[in-house]
Amino acid sequence: MISVFDLFKIGIGPSSSHTVGPMVAARRFVQQLQDSGVLASVARVEANLYGSLALTGAGHGTIAAVLLGLEGAEPATVDPQHLQARAQALQLGADLLLAGSKALPFNFACDLLLHRHQFLPQHANGLRFRALVADGRVLADETYFSVGGGFVQTEAELAAPLADALTVPYPFRSAAELMALCRVHNRTIAQIMLENELVHLPAAEVRRRLLAIAGVMQDCIARGGQCEGELPGDYHVRRRAPAIMKKLQMLQQAGRGDIMLWPMVYAIAVSEENAAGGRIVTAPTNGAAGIIPAVLQYYRNFAPNASDEGIVDFLLTAAAIGLLYKMNASISGAEVGCQGEVGVACSMAAGAYCAVLGGTLAQIENAAEIAMEHHLGLTCDPVGGLVQVPCVERNGVAAEKAIKVAQLALLENGEHLVSLDKVIETMLRTGQDMQHSYKETALGGLALTVGLPAC
Ligand code: SF4
Repeated sequence: MISVFDLFKIGIGPSSSHTVGPMVAARRFVQQLQDSGVLASVARVEANLYGSLALTGAGHGTIAAVLLGLEGAEPATVDPQHLQARAQALQLGADLLLAGSKALPFNFACDLLLHRHQFLPQHANGLRFRALVADGRVLADETYFSVGGGFVQTEAELAAPLADALTVPYPFRSAAELMALCRVHNRTIAQIMLENELVHLPAAEVRRRLLAIAGVMQDCIARGGQCEGELPGDYHVRRRAPAIMKKLQMLQQAGRGDIMLWPMVYAIAVSEENAAGGRIVTAPTNGAAGIIPAVLQYYRNFAPNASDEGIVDFLLTAAAIGLLYKMNASISGAEVGCQGEVGVACSMAAGAYCAVLGGTLAQIENAAEIAMEHHLGLTCDPVGGLVQVPCVERNGVAAEKAIKVAQLALLENGEHLVSLDKVIETMLRTGQDMQHSYKETALGGLALTVGLPAC
Protein backbone atom coordinates (compact mmCIF):
# COMPACT_ATOMS: atom_id res chain seq x y z
CA MET A 1 0.00 0.00 0.00
CA ILE A 2 1.04 3.58 -0.56
CA SER A 3 2.61 5.20 2.49
CA VAL A 4 1.55 8.50 4.05
CA PHE A 5 5.06 9.68 3.07
CA ASP A 6 4.35 8.97 -0.58
CA LEU A 7 1.33 11.26 -0.49
CA PHE A 8 3.02 14.02 1.52
CA LYS A 9 6.45 14.66 0.05
CA ILE A 10 8.74 17.62 0.61
CA GLY A 11 9.69 18.99 -2.80
CA ILE A 12 9.64 22.06 -4.99
CA GLY A 13 7.05 23.94 -7.00
CA PRO A 14 5.29 24.51 -9.19
CA SER A 15 3.95 21.06 -10.14
CA SER A 16 4.16 17.56 -8.71
CA SER A 17 3.49 15.86 -12.04
CA HIS A 18 5.39 18.36 -14.21
CA THR A 19 8.28 19.38 -11.91
CA VAL A 20 8.76 16.84 -9.09
CA GLY A 21 7.93 13.72 -11.16
CA PRO A 22 10.18 14.62 -14.12
CA MET A 23 13.09 15.38 -11.79
CA VAL A 24 12.58 12.01 -10.08
CA ALA A 25 12.39 10.26 -13.47
CA ALA A 26 15.57 11.90 -14.78
CA ARG A 27 17.40 11.03 -11.57
CA ARG A 28 16.19 7.43 -11.72
CA PHE A 29 17.55 7.19 -15.26
CA VAL A 30 21.04 8.39 -14.31
CA GLN A 31 21.01 6.17 -11.23
CA GLN A 32 20.27 3.25 -13.51
CA LEU A 33 23.31 4.23 -15.62
CA GLN A 34 25.41 4.39 -12.49
CA ASP A 35 24.13 1.11 -11.06
CA SER A 36 24.77 -0.75 -14.32
CA GLY A 37 28.33 0.64 -14.47
CA VAL A 38 27.97 2.37 -17.86
CA LEU A 39 27.97 6.01 -16.74
CA ALA A 40 31.60 6.56 -17.83
CA SER A 41 30.82 5.41 -21.41
CA VAL A 42 27.95 7.85 -21.98
CA ALA A 43 28.77 10.44 -24.66
CA ARG A 44 25.33 11.92 -25.13
CA VAL A 45 22.06 11.90 -23.24
CA GLU A 46 18.71 12.73 -24.78
CA ALA A 47 15.46 13.65 -22.99
CA ASN A 48 12.08 13.50 -24.73
CA LEU A 49 8.94 15.04 -23.22
CA TYR A 50 5.53 14.02 -24.52
CA GLY A 51 1.95 15.24 -24.33
CA SER A 52 1.05 17.45 -21.40
CA LEU A 53 4.69 17.70 -20.25
CA ALA A 54 5.67 19.14 -23.64
CA LEU A 55 2.62 21.41 -23.87
CA THR A 56 2.83 22.98 -20.41
CA GLY A 57 6.36 22.02 -19.39
CA ALA A 58 7.84 25.48 -19.90
CA GLY A 59 5.40 27.07 -17.44
CA HIS A 60 5.61 24.16 -14.99
CA GLY A 61 9.42 24.14 -14.70
CA THR A 62 9.64 20.70 -16.34
CA ILE A 63 12.70 21.50 -18.40
CA ALA A 64 14.70 22.79 -15.43
CA ALA A 65 13.54 19.80 -13.38
CA VAL A 66 14.69 17.30 -16.02
CA LEU A 67 18.07 18.98 -16.46
CA LEU A 68 18.74 19.08 -12.73
CA GLY A 69 17.44 15.52 -12.32
CA LEU A 70 20.01 14.37 -14.90
CA GLU A 71 22.61 16.04 -12.72
CA GLY A 72 21.37 13.98 -9.77
CA ALA A 73 19.28 16.59 -7.93
CA GLU A 74 16.40 15.48 -5.69
CA PRO A 75 13.17 17.47 -5.19
CA ALA A 76 13.38 17.27 -1.38
CA THR A 77 16.85 18.78 -1.14
CA VAL A 78 17.48 20.84 -4.28
CA ASP A 79 17.84 24.56 -3.59
CA PRO A 80 15.08 26.31 -5.59
CA GLN A 81 17.39 29.30 -6.29
CA HIS A 82 20.22 27.08 -7.53
CA LEU A 83 17.79 25.13 -9.71
CA GLN A 84 16.78 28.19 -11.72
CA ALA A 85 20.33 29.51 -12.13
CA ARG A 86 21.78 26.13 -13.09
CA ALA A 87 19.00 25.37 -15.60
CA GLN A 88 19.58 28.73 -17.23
CA ALA A 89 23.32 28.05 -17.53
CA LEU A 90 22.63 24.67 -19.13
CA GLN A 91 20.22 26.22 -21.62
CA LEU A 92 22.98 28.70 -22.53
CA GLY A 93 25.44 25.92 -23.34
CA ALA A 94 27.14 24.84 -20.10
CA ASP A 95 28.20 21.17 -19.93
CA LEU A 96 25.80 18.80 -18.19
CA LEU A 97 27.22 17.14 -15.07
CA LEU A 98 25.61 13.74 -15.51
CA ALA A 99 24.82 12.23 -12.07
CA GLY A 100 26.74 15.18 -10.63
CA SER A 101 30.09 13.81 -11.78
CA LYS A 102 30.50 13.22 -15.52
CA ALA A 103 30.79 16.37 -17.65
CA LEU A 104 28.96 16.00 -20.95
CA PRO A 105 28.33 18.47 -23.76
CA PHE A 106 24.60 19.23 -23.85
CA ASN A 107 22.96 20.72 -26.91
CA PHE A 108 19.72 22.11 -25.57
CA ALA A 109 18.00 22.24 -28.99
CA CYS A 110 18.85 18.65 -29.95
CA ASP A 111 19.11 16.84 -26.63
CA LEU A 112 15.89 18.04 -24.99
CA LEU A 113 12.98 17.39 -27.33
CA LEU A 114 9.38 18.53 -26.79
CA HIS A 115 6.82 16.34 -28.60
CA ARG A 116 3.84 18.65 -28.23
CA HIS A 117 1.54 16.76 -30.55
CA GLN A 118 2.42 13.26 -29.41
CA PHE A 119 0.78 11.66 -26.39
CA LEU A 120 2.13 8.25 -25.36
CA PRO A 121 -0.79 5.80 -25.11
CA GLN A 122 -0.22 4.80 -21.48
CA HIS A 123 -0.40 8.27 -19.87
CA ALA A 124 -0.49 11.96 -20.79
CA ASN A 125 2.79 12.68 -18.97
CA GLY A 126 5.46 10.63 -20.71
CA LEU A 127 9.26 11.02 -20.65
CA ARG A 128 11.81 8.98 -22.56
CA PHE A 129 15.53 9.11 -21.84
CA ARG A 130 18.27 7.67 -24.01
CA ALA A 131 21.98 7.41 -23.25
CA LEU A 132 24.32 6.92 -26.21
CA VAL A 133 28.00 6.16 -26.69
CA ALA A 134 30.24 8.19 -29.04
CA ASP A 135 29.47 6.08 -32.13
CA GLY A 136 25.72 6.54 -31.63
CA ARG A 137 24.96 3.14 -30.08
CA VAL A 138 22.20 3.25 -27.48
CA LEU A 139 23.39 2.22 -24.01
CA ALA A 140 20.12 2.71 -22.18
CA ASP A 141 16.60 3.64 -23.22
CA GLU A 142 13.81 4.01 -20.65
CA THR A 143 10.34 5.51 -20.67
CA TYR A 144 8.77 6.89 -17.49
CA PHE A 145 5.36 8.27 -16.70
CA SER A 146 4.77 11.02 -14.19
CA VAL A 147 1.40 9.83 -12.97
CA GLY A 148 0.55 12.61 -10.51
CA GLY A 149 1.59 13.63 -7.01
CA GLY A 150 5.28 13.17 -7.86
CA PHE A 151 4.81 9.43 -8.44
CA VAL A 152 6.86 8.03 -11.33
CA GLN A 153 6.46 4.65 -12.98
CA THR A 154 8.17 2.85 -15.83
CA GLU A 155 6.04 1.12 -18.45
CA ALA A 156 6.38 -2.19 -16.58
CA GLU A 157 5.54 -0.65 -13.21
CA LEU A 158 2.48 1.04 -14.67
CA ALA A 159 1.18 -2.34 -15.78
CA ALA A 160 2.06 -4.16 -12.51
CA PRO A 161 -0.88 -5.17 -10.32
CA LEU A 162 -1.08 -3.31 -7.00
CA ALA A 163 -1.95 -6.51 -5.13
CA ASP A 164 1.75 -7.49 -4.99
CA ALA A 165 2.45 -4.59 -2.69
CA LEU A 166 -0.17 -5.36 -0.02
CA THR A 167 2.10 -6.31 2.89
CA VAL A 168 0.67 -4.18 5.68
CA PRO A 169 -1.46 -5.47 8.62
CA TYR A 170 -4.59 -3.62 7.50
CA PRO A 171 -4.69 -3.52 3.69
CA PHE A 172 -7.69 -1.81 2.12
CA ARG A 173 -8.68 -0.90 -1.39
CA SER A 174 -11.94 0.96 -0.85
CA ALA A 175 -13.58 3.27 1.66
CA ALA A 176 -16.01 0.46 2.53
CA GLU A 177 -13.08 -1.85 3.38
CA LEU A 178 -11.36 0.90 5.39
CA MET A 179 -14.53 1.61 7.40
CA ALA A 180 -15.06 -2.13 8.00
CA LEU A 181 -11.46 -2.49 9.30
CA CYS A 182 -12.00 0.42 11.67
CA ARG A 183 -15.23 -1.08 13.00
CA VAL A 184 -14.01 -4.68 13.33
CA HIS A 185 -10.71 -3.73 15.00
CA ASN A 186 -12.11 -0.78 16.94
CA ARG A 187 -9.59 1.62 15.43
CA THR A 188 -9.78 5.13 14.02
CA ILE A 189 -8.71 5.75 10.43
CA ALA A 190 -5.52 7.39 11.74
CA GLN A 191 -4.73 4.33 13.88
CA ILE A 192 -5.20 1.98 10.91
CA MET A 193 -2.87 4.13 8.83
CA LEU A 194 -0.32 4.34 11.65
CA GLU A 195 -0.25 0.59 12.17
CA ASN A 196 0.31 0.12 8.44
CA GLU A 197 3.20 2.62 8.58
CA LEU A 198 4.82 0.66 11.43
CA VAL A 199 5.80 -2.00 8.88
CA HIS A 200 8.38 0.51 7.61
CA LEU A 201 9.21 2.76 10.57
CA PRO A 202 8.91 2.91 14.39
CA ALA A 203 5.97 4.94 15.73
CA ALA A 204 8.20 7.72 17.08
CA GLU A 205 9.82 8.16 13.67
CA VAL A 206 6.45 8.26 11.89
CA ARG A 207 5.34 10.95 14.32
CA ARG A 208 8.59 12.91 13.96
CA ARG A 209 8.40 12.86 10.17
CA LEU A 210 4.75 13.87 10.09
CA LEU A 211 5.39 16.80 12.40
CA ALA A 212 8.36 17.78 10.21
CA ILE A 213 6.07 17.77 7.18
CA ALA A 214 3.54 19.88 9.08
CA GLY A 215 6.40 22.25 9.94
CA VAL A 216 7.40 22.66 6.27
CA MET A 217 3.73 23.40 5.48
CA GLN A 218 3.64 26.04 8.21
CA ASP A 219 6.92 27.63 7.05
CA CYS A 220 5.52 27.78 3.55
CA ILE A 221 2.48 29.76 4.78
CA ALA A 222 4.83 32.14 6.61
CA ARG A 223 7.06 32.67 3.56
CA GLY A 224 4.10 33.09 1.23
CA GLY A 225 2.63 35.63 3.64
CA GLN A 226 5.75 37.78 3.34
CA CYS A 227 6.93 37.49 -0.26
CA GLU A 228 5.59 40.30 -2.38
CA GLY A 229 6.06 40.98 -6.08
CA GLU A 230 5.11 39.00 -9.16
CA LEU A 231 4.96 35.32 -9.94
CA PRO A 232 7.18 34.06 -12.78
CA GLY A 233 5.92 34.16 -16.37
CA ASP A 234 4.56 36.57 -18.94
CA TYR A 235 1.26 37.28 -17.19
CA HIS A 236 2.77 39.37 -14.37
CA VAL A 237 0.44 37.83 -11.80
CA ARG A 238 0.77 39.73 -8.53
CA ARG A 239 1.40 37.86 -5.27
CA ARG A 240 -1.61 38.70 -3.11
CA ALA A 241 -1.17 36.83 0.17
CA PRO A 242 0.94 39.44 2.06
CA ALA A 243 -1.47 42.32 1.41
CA ILE A 244 -4.56 40.21 2.17
CA MET A 245 -3.01 38.96 5.43
CA LYS A 246 -2.26 42.52 6.55
CA LYS A 247 -5.80 43.68 5.79
CA LEU A 248 -7.29 40.69 7.57
CA GLN A 249 -5.20 41.37 10.66
CA MET A 250 -6.39 44.97 10.70
CA LEU A 251 -10.00 43.89 10.30
CA GLN A 252 -9.62 41.35 13.07
CA GLN A 253 -8.15 43.95 15.42
CA ALA A 254 -11.17 46.13 14.65
CA GLY A 255 -13.44 43.17 15.47
CA ARG A 256 -14.69 42.89 11.87
CA GLY A 257 -12.63 40.06 10.39
CA ASP A 258 -14.32 36.93 9.02
CA ILE A 259 -12.16 34.06 10.26
CA MET A 260 -13.13 31.94 7.24
CA LEU A 261 -10.97 34.25 5.15
CA TRP A 262 -7.90 32.95 7.01
CA PRO A 263 -7.85 29.45 5.50
CA MET A 264 -8.34 31.07 2.10
CA VAL A 265 -5.33 33.32 2.51
CA TYR A 266 -3.20 30.54 4.03
CA ALA A 267 -3.90 28.44 0.93
CA ILE A 268 -3.17 31.39 -1.36
CA ALA A 269 0.16 31.95 0.43
CA VAL A 270 1.21 28.32 -0.09
CA SER A 271 0.01 28.24 -3.69
CA GLU A 272 1.92 31.41 -4.50
CA GLU A 273 5.06 29.88 -3.02
CA ASN A 274 4.43 26.82 -5.16
CA ALA A 275 3.89 28.92 -8.30
CA ALA A 276 7.17 30.71 -7.57
CA GLY A 277 9.01 27.36 -7.50
CA GLY A 278 9.61 27.42 -3.74
CA ARG A 279 9.94 24.67 -1.13
CA ILE A 280 6.60 22.91 -0.83
CA VAL A 281 4.93 19.76 0.47
CA THR A 282 3.16 17.87 -2.28
CA ALA A 283 -0.30 17.32 -0.74
CA PRO A 284 -1.25 15.20 -2.68
CA THR A 285 -0.12 17.30 -5.69
CA ASN A 286 1.63 20.66 -5.97
CA GLY A 287 -1.21 22.36 -7.85
CA ALA A 288 -3.45 21.59 -4.87
CA ALA A 289 -0.72 21.93 -2.22
CA GLY A 290 -2.34 24.92 -0.49
CA ILE A 291 -5.48 23.22 0.81
CA ILE A 292 -4.21 20.75 3.42
CA PRO A 293 -1.67 23.18 4.98
CA ALA A 294 -4.38 25.85 5.13
CA VAL A 295 -6.91 23.63 6.90
CA LEU A 296 -4.18 22.36 9.24
CA GLN A 297 -3.17 25.93 10.07
CA TYR A 298 -6.81 26.83 10.67
CA TYR A 299 -6.99 23.84 13.04
CA ARG A 300 -3.84 25.03 14.88
CA ASN A 301 -5.04 28.61 15.20
CA PHE A 302 -8.76 28.24 15.76
CA ALA A 303 -9.62 24.74 17.07
CA PRO A 304 -9.86 24.92 20.89
CA ASN A 305 -8.00 21.66 21.63
CA ALA A 306 -5.46 21.66 18.80
CA SER A 307 -2.38 19.55 19.57
CA ASP A 308 0.53 17.77 17.90
CA GLU A 309 -1.41 14.54 18.28
CA GLY A 310 -4.27 16.14 16.36
CA ILE A 311 -1.86 17.23 13.62
CA VAL A 312 -0.50 13.68 13.28
CA ASP A 313 -4.05 12.24 13.19
CA PHE A 314 -5.07 14.88 10.64
CA LEU A 315 -2.26 13.94 8.26
CA LEU A 316 -2.79 10.18 8.68
CA THR A 317 -6.54 10.48 8.05
CA ALA A 318 -6.02 12.77 5.06
CA ALA A 319 -3.50 10.30 3.64
CA ALA A 320 -5.93 7.38 4.02
CA ILE A 321 -8.53 9.28 2.00
CA GLY A 322 -5.93 10.38 -0.56
CA LEU A 323 -4.72 6.89 -1.19
CA LEU A 324 -8.28 5.74 -1.90
CA TYR A 325 -8.26 8.22 -4.80
CA LYS A 326 -4.75 7.23 -5.83
CA MET A 327 -5.59 3.50 -5.85
CA ASN A 328 -9.03 3.71 -7.43
CA ALA A 329 -9.00 6.80 -9.65
CA SER A 330 -6.24 9.35 -10.17
CA ILE A 331 -4.64 12.40 -8.59
CA SER A 332 -3.33 13.71 -11.90
CA GLY A 333 -4.80 16.81 -13.55
CA ALA A 334 -3.45 15.51 -16.86
CA GLU A 335 -5.51 12.36 -16.42
CA VAL A 336 -8.79 13.50 -14.84
CA GLY A 337 -8.71 17.31 -14.68
CA CYS A 338 -8.58 19.50 -11.59
CA GLN A 339 -11.19 17.40 -9.77
CA GLY A 340 -8.27 14.96 -9.28
CA GLU A 341 -6.06 17.65 -7.72
CA VAL A 342 -8.05 20.37 -5.94
CA GLY A 343 -11.06 18.06 -5.58
CA VAL A 344 -8.99 15.30 -3.97
CA ALA A 345 -7.09 17.66 -1.65
CA CYS A 346 -10.40 19.20 -0.53
CA SER A 347 -11.84 15.74 0.13
CA MET A 348 -8.75 14.72 2.14
CA ALA A 349 -8.80 17.94 4.16
CA ALA A 350 -12.55 17.78 4.84
CA GLY A 351 -12.40 14.19 6.10
CA ALA A 352 -9.28 14.87 8.19
CA TYR A 353 -10.68 18.03 9.73
CA CYS A 354 -13.91 16.23 10.57
CA ALA A 355 -11.84 13.48 12.24
CA VAL A 356 -9.80 15.83 14.47
CA LEU A 357 -12.99 17.60 15.53
CA GLY A 358 -14.24 14.25 16.83
CA GLY A 359 -16.36 13.09 13.87
CA THR A 360 -17.60 9.52 13.67
CA LEU A 361 -16.50 7.23 10.84
CA ALA A 362 -19.74 7.92 8.99
CA GLN A 363 -19.34 11.68 9.42
CA ILE A 364 -15.72 11.56 8.20
CA GLU A 365 -16.72 9.57 5.14
CA ASN A 366 -19.60 11.96 4.55
CA ALA A 367 -17.32 15.01 4.73
CA ALA A 368 -14.79 13.49 2.32
CA GLU A 369 -17.59 12.53 -0.06
CA ILE A 370 -19.36 15.91 -0.04
CA ALA A 371 -16.08 17.70 -0.74
CA MET A 372 -15.48 15.65 -3.89
CA GLU A 373 -19.13 15.55 -4.99
CA HIS A 374 -19.05 19.30 -5.53
CA HIS A 375 -15.79 19.27 -7.45
CA LEU A 376 -16.94 16.65 -9.97
CA GLY A 377 -16.23 17.81 -13.50
CA LEU A 378 -13.73 20.49 -12.48
CA THR A 379 -11.41 21.03 -15.43
CA CYS A 380 -7.71 21.83 -15.49
CA ASP A 381 -7.09 24.96 -17.57
CA PRO A 382 -4.03 26.81 -16.25
CA VAL A 383 -3.57 30.12 -18.05
CA GLY A 384 -0.32 30.06 -20.02
CA GLY A 385 0.35 26.58 -18.63
CA LEU A 386 1.37 28.25 -15.35
CA VAL A 387 0.13 26.97 -11.98
CA GLN A 388 -1.21 30.43 -11.12
CA VAL A 389 -4.63 31.21 -12.60
CA PRO A 390 -7.01 29.64 -11.62
CA CYS A 391 -4.90 27.42 -9.37
CA VAL A 392 -3.87 29.83 -6.59
CA GLU A 393 -7.35 31.20 -5.85
CA ARG A 394 -8.94 27.80 -6.40
CA ASN A 395 -6.87 26.45 -3.50
CA GLY A 396 -8.20 29.23 -1.29
CA VAL A 397 -11.82 28.52 -2.16
CA ALA A 398 -11.35 24.77 -1.64
CA ALA A 399 -9.69 25.24 1.77
CA GLU A 400 -12.68 27.19 3.05
CA LYS A 401 -15.02 24.63 1.48
CA ALA A 402 -13.23 21.74 3.24
CA ILE A 403 -13.76 23.34 6.66
CA LYS A 404 -17.42 24.14 6.01
CA VAL A 405 -18.08 20.66 4.65
CA ALA A 406 -16.53 19.07 7.75
CA GLN A 407 -18.66 21.31 9.98
CA LEU A 408 -21.77 20.41 7.95
CA ALA A 409 -21.06 16.68 8.28
CA LEU A 410 -20.64 17.11 12.05
CA LEU A 411 -24.15 18.58 12.32
CA GLU A 412 -25.67 15.39 10.92
CA ASN A 413 -25.44 11.69 11.76
CA GLY A 414 -23.36 10.65 8.76
CA GLU A 415 -26.20 8.99 6.81
CA HIS A 416 -25.83 9.78 3.13
CA LEU A 417 -26.88 8.43 -0.23
CA VAL A 418 -23.64 8.79 -2.22
CA SER A 419 -20.81 6.79 -0.70
CA LEU A 420 -17.17 7.89 -0.87
CA ASP A 421 -16.41 4.89 -3.09
CA LYS A 422 -19.18 5.90 -5.50
CA VAL A 423 -17.98 9.48 -5.74
CA ILE A 424 -14.41 8.28 -6.40
CA GLU A 425 -15.70 6.02 -9.17
CA THR A 426 -17.73 8.92 -10.58
CA MET A 427 -14.70 11.21 -10.51
CA LEU A 428 -12.69 8.71 -12.53
CA ARG A 429 -15.46 8.19 -15.09
CA THR A 430 -15.98 11.94 -15.41
CA GLY A 431 -12.25 12.40 -15.94
CA GLN A 432 -12.20 9.71 -18.60
CA ASP A 433 -15.07 11.45 -20.41
CA MET A 434 -13.40 14.88 -20.21
CA GLN A 435 -11.90 16.29 -23.40
CA HIS A 436 -8.14 16.33 -23.33
CA SER A 437 -8.05 20.13 -23.79
CA TYR A 438 -9.28 20.32 -20.17
CA LYS A 439 -6.61 18.03 -18.76
CA GLU A 440 -3.49 20.10 -18.10
CA THR A 441 -2.80 20.93 -21.72
CA ALA A 442 -3.49 24.70 -21.46
CA LEU A 443 -5.58 24.30 -24.62
CA GLY A 444 -9.04 24.91 -23.17
CA GLY A 445 -11.09 26.84 -20.62
CA LEU A 446 -9.46 29.90 -19.06
CA ALA A 447 -6.17 29.00 -20.75
CA LEU A 448 -7.90 29.64 -24.06
CA THR A 449 -10.12 32.63 -23.24
CA VAL A 450 -7.72 34.55 -21.00
CA GLY A 451 -4.34 33.74 -22.46
CA LEU A 452 -2.70 32.26 -25.49
CA PRO A 453 -2.18 28.50 -25.28
CA ALA A 454 1.30 27.58 -24.07
CA CYS A 455 2.18 25.98 -27.41
S1 SF4 B 1 -6.13 23.93 -12.75
FE1 SF4 B 1 -6.02 22.47 -11.03
S2 SF4 B 1 -5.13 20.58 -11.88
FE2 SF4 B 1 -4.74 22.26 -13.34
S3 SF4 B 1 -2.68 22.99 -12.84
FE3 SF4 B 1 -4.16 24.27 -11.71
S4 SF4 B 1 -4.42 23.26 -9.70
FE4 SF4 B 1 -3.40 21.76 -11.06
